[in-house]
Amino acid sequence: MDAIIKNFPKGLDEGAEGDNVAVEKPTEAEAMAAVEVLLRWIGENPEREGLRDTPARVAKAYLELFSGYGQSAKEILGRTFEEVSGYDELVLVRDIPFFSHCEHHMVPILGKAHIGYLPDGRVLGLSKIARVVDLFGRRLQTQEALTAQIAEAIDTTLKPRGVAVMIEAEHMCMVMRGVQKLGSTTLTSTFTGQFKTEPQEQARFMSMLRNRD
Ligand SMILES: [Zn+2]
Repeated sequence: MDAIIKNFPKGLDEGAEGDNVAVEKPTEAEAMAAVEVLLRWIGENPEREGLRDTPARVAKAYLELFSGYGQSAKEILGRTFEEVSGYDELVLVRDIPFFSHCEHHMVPILGKAHIGYLPDGRVLGLSKIARVVDLFGRRLQTQEALTAQIAEAIDTTLKPRGVAVMIEAEHMCMVMRGVQKLGSTTLTSTFTGQFKTEPQEQARFMSMLRNRD
């Protein structure tokens, strides 16, 4: 298993919202025509029985697979948070399954996200954390950007004392083409606030992640 650990400072590039410049949206018919071109490109006959409805199905599936473009983290996380008095310890949600697609080949990335934060008087509903992962996952991504975007979205909306995001994922573009490494996992992490400034908080996040018993 290959593991690459990378640390990404907060807010380095794409950030969370507003980086998707509005482009003119093609019609469904245009999207279907593009799928038909790709079918011919790989040597298929789009006219054959089994492929008749494929362009329509692919166009529709893409809307679902890439539904993250139509939403914002602010909408999902909202402005209301659960107030907690007294609990200021690490909250860790681990093993959140997700899928995404790499922006280089538009091929799936499959993985798990682990998200921790140090509350500053308020906490997030657990389902909201999973929805934020989904929001950014359902876009074309690099794993590095995905990691940073999730951390920044939670950091700017919840304003906790710190956010830690670790993602482990398998890139189908590495498995299915080129180097063909089955089972190699890429690890990325982003730390903000106290996770960045206080090594013991980062160490606690890592040990809670590893401690599976
Ligand atoms: Zn790729």
